[in-house]
Amino acid sequence: MTKQQNLFYSNPDLTATTTKIVAVRPHFFGVAIALEHNIVRASGGGEPRDLGTVDGMKILHAEKQDGLTWTAHDADADRFAVGKTVDVVLDAEHREHRRRLHTATHLLIRCAYNHFSEFNVAVADIEDDASSALIVARTDRPVRSEDISLVDRRMRSEVLNGRSVHAAKAKSVEHAESEYGALFRVSNRHAFRGRIRLICINGLDANPCSGLHHPTTDIGPYKVVPEHLPEADPYTFAVRLKPTGAWMYWFGEGVGT
Ligand SMILES: [Zn+2]
Repeated sequence: MTKQQNLFYSNPDLTATTTKIVAVRPHFFGVAIALEHNIVRASGGGEPRDLGTVDGMKILHAEKQDGLTWTAHDADADRFAVGKTVDVVLDAEHREHRRRLHTATHLLIRCAYNHFSEFNVAVADIEDDASSALIVARTDRPVRSEDISLVDRRMRSEVLNGRSVHAAKAKSVEHAESEYGALFRVSNRHAFRGRIRLICINGLDANPCSGLHHPTTDIGPYKVVPEHLPEADPYTFAVRLKPTGAWMYWFGEGVGT
């Protein structure tokens, strides 16, 4: 039986490694391979996949199948063989941007969740190029531009607070609810059975998530820009989160977008 160890959860800082191929199969792009000590994360949980190369060959796709993570390459099957040692190099900047955006997304949703009586997330997706994240939710009342700036202000103070962010395990959603109380929130978009992985923002939030995160809420300068969706009604909260080189401020509707 082939054995693969995924290292991206235990060591998300690791973006280059040398490891062995444990499985090879044909793929739409040419060939797919599975690595023994795997650092490549496939897409999931609103987060795009890792970019990079294996043995100098671009990773064109990454997917989970038959209990393994596979990377796909435009190559003949004989380019890669089981047992071959290969160098894996990821786009470290892309991963870093994703991690910051993922922690920022948790933070923004928690701040909005505290601001509104009801906040049901419909979309929380990081773009493939990791340049921004889109958050769309339904609220209990019409959303005004002041609501967005108040949520942004709450979030900004938590970014400056620099709370720690860590992963934890829970036996079930019910266990997580009893352990974390009001800090626990779960989207009704997802159904969970059995053990779950939680991302905990110390003293603020606990939420099931399979992604990779920045280890503190100090995610650096960012801006929150209202997103005007054609299908949105007044109860729709829609914003785009963008990391920026320096702190920028949003002064209201139509400015700074
Ligand atoms: Zn997450």
